[in-house]
Parts: sequence; structure tokens; C-alpha cells
Amino acid sequence: MIDICLLGTGGTVPLPNRFLTSLLVRWNGHEILVDCGEGTQIALNAKTLSCRHIDAIFLTHFHADHTAGLPGLLLSMAKADRTEPITIYGPKGLEDLLKGVLLIARYVPFEIKFVEYEQKENIYEIDGLKITSFSVRHSVPCFSFSFDYARSPKFDREKAERNNVPMKAWGRLQKNDSVEIDGVTYTSDMVLAEERKGIHFLYTTDTRPTESIRKYAQDADLMIAEGMYGDEEKKEKSKLNKHMMMQESAEIAKNANVKQLWFTHYSPSMHDPWIYEEMVQQLFPQAVISKDGERIDLSFSEE
Ligand SMILES: [Zn+2]
Ligand SMILES: [Zn+2]
Repeated sequence: MIDICLLGTGGTVPLPNRFLTSLLVRWNGHEILVDCGEGTQIALNAKTLSCRHIDAIFLTHFHADHTAGLPGLLLSMAKADRTEPITIYGPKGLEDLLKGVLLIARYVPFEIKFVEYEQKENIYEIDGLKITSFSVRHSVPCFSFSFDYARSPKFDREKAERNNVPMKAWGRLQKNDSVEIDGVTYTSDMVLAEERKGIHFLYTTDTRPTESIRKYAQDADLMIAEGMYGDEEKKEKSKLNKHMMMQESAEIAKNANVKQLWFTHYSPSMHDPWIYEEMVQQLFPQAVISKDGERIDLSFSEE
């Protein structure tokens, strides 16, 4: 239903075997990319994924490890004969950033639209996927993302009959909020059963723990969160540079009843993140030390 691929898991600088953190989300023939650090186009290529059809790019913030891949990616799209416009979303100042990007990537033959996050919480919608960018706490303005894919309620025949809704309105009320027949207005809640749980996941990195993250983590099917450090000795450093420890992400996931937690944005000083696996799984058993290319298909849960 929704195919999620963590293209890279690195923070700060790419390593020979670790691309910078970036996420590709695909559904219903749409694709969006979250963050675009140096080498993101190679990370896509390494997973035999094309950049040709990416509809939109969402940026968390303007540090180079999340943005420096934009010129290369846009030029790769141009080389793949892309002509459709692309929309780039980012914090205020995005317009200036893109002017700089286009100084390097001069021959981009398609339109680049941009949207700056105006509020602390901003809601966008692309073909049924609701994307909320929400403000977090880093050394520069930074946002995380909550994704929601709603599931339409089932048709309830008994309810429709009980409410005397004529049969010819049934089909239309499953697609529209209301329908008028012979001067009588019927509403969709007269024929539809209870709301059903949709798909909910979030991506959060380069931040200290915040209330906003706790709020959006609640009952998430998947939380992709920063695991910059695992060593307790790095705690002060993580506070100073406004990053999250693995332990902090795990604590949030546990308290928010998250189904699964993937770490990303490992410090380049952390050569082997798996040495922390046992420690974090004691805090939160469904914690995964993600690797580049970590992938999952999220589907509606069985009823
Ligand atoms: Zn970063
Ligand atoms: Zn940063």
C-alpha cells in the first residue's frame, strides 16, 4: 500500500558504505523524497530506483547533509528527460536556497515550484497522503514529518436501510459527503460504518526530543527517528548540537505505543551502530538498527 525505503542512514557526511539519511515514499504511482543530502541520486541508483518520477521533495532543514544533493538530483532528473514540474517544500529561506542550487544546476528543463513552511504545523495533501510538517528543536529551523493515509469506512447496508436511504444513493454516498434525491439530502454518515484506522508513520531527525514528536509518534505504525549516538558519553554533545540519542528516540517510541522504530542519521564516528542493538531493544524491543535500503510495505491492518 505504501512503500517506504530509507535510502541512507548517515548523518553529517556520507561514508563509503553509508549514504546520508533520505527517505523515499511511494504510493498509488506517486513518489516523494524526504531530504536530499550529498549523493542521494547515487543512493537511489544503488537501489535501482529512478529519480525520474519524484513528485515532490520535502526538506527538514538547510544543513548540507540534508540539501547538498539537490543540484545533482535535479541534473539527473534532467538527464532522464523529465519535463514534469517538481515541488520542493522547506523552511523559510527555501527560495534563496533554490537560487543557489540553480546557479550550479543551470540547465533544468522543468519547472521547480517551491512551498515554504509558514507555520509551526503545516498540512499538505498529495493523492490521499496527508503530510504534516511540524517544527522541532535543532540548531537551525528544522521540521519533522507525520504521514497519514486514511482508510475509507465500510458501507453498512443495514444502516442505510435503517436511515431510509434510497438504494440509488448508496454508491454515490460512498464517494461524496452528501447527495440530494427528490429534494431530500442524504449524508455519507447515514450509510457508512465506523471510521477505520489508516496508516500513520513519521520521520524525525536532527532534533532534541520535543512534545510535537511525542504527539505525532502516538500509535504510529512506523517511526523513523534519529539515532545520532548510542554511547551515553555522547549525551552532552547531543544536547549541545541538538541531536537525539538512540535511547531518547526509543523512549519516545515506547511511551507512544509505536509499532516499529527505525534509527537513522548515525554519526560518522559510529562505525558499527549494531553494537547498540541489544541496549536499545531492552528499552524498546521493536527498535531496528536500520541499514541503507531498509524497506517496508505498510498496509491497512486486518480487521
Ligand atoms: Zn543532519
Ligand atoms: Zn542538522
